[in-house]
Amino acid sequence: MRPYLLKRLILDLFYPNRCPFCDSFIPFDEYYCTSCRNKLTPPPKYDEYENIDFFTAVTEYNDQSRPIISEMKNESNGYALSAAAFMIFQSLLSEQLLSRIDIITYIPMRRRDILRRGYNQTKLIAKELGKIADKPCRPLLKKIRNTSQQKTLGARERRENLKDAFSVRNVKLFAGKSVLIIDDVCTTGSTLNEAAGKIKNSGAKLVGASVFAKTPRIT
Ligand SMILES: [Zn+2]
Repeated sequence: MRPYLLKRLILDLFYPNRCPFCDSFIPFDEYYCTSCRNKLTPPPKYDEYENIDFFTAVTEYNDQSRPIISEMKNESNGYALSAAAFMIFQSLLSEQLLSRIDIITYIPMRRRDILRRGYNQTKLIAKELGKIADKPCRPLLKKIRNTSQQKTLGARERRENLKDAFSVRNVKLFAGKSVLIIDDVCTTGSTLNEAAGKIKNSGAKLVGASVFAKTPRIT
């Protein structure tokens, strides 16, 4: 039995495991209940991104996934982050991508947002995924410029807004390797594409991206 499962089994004797999204009781070795998982619709068809070699999403960003994402942003609900990490792990597993990944990283958050929220939930999901998948998770990106809120911008403005928003760090850790970048929600993919480009231009062999939710394609 893996050590984390043993820990959960012991914890379960005192604090029975509950689904982090609906609070119903669940077996000690599960991350969420089947009814919450079944509510999530499959992700939309992915767009092609210039710098991203493979892409996975757990679900579509919609009315079913939105409350789950807001739980992930709730600091007191650490199990929601673990549950999201486990679902991302399963999406990689089902597409047989796990063996292609050497190192995991995440989209850094703006300093202002970290100060406001107290933590970067994407980093926590990536760290948890690293534990579940038994892969190293390291900070490889740094936000060098505070960008405007992407939400309010059109596709072209988004690209301009993101230009040189990131720099890379710990290049030695990923040179010649395959990197997976984690983000919570992917809208147009321009943030991930920009980050992937930086990592690729610094010597990564392959760059993939996995997110929890992807918004439907805007046509
Ligand atoms: Zn549930």
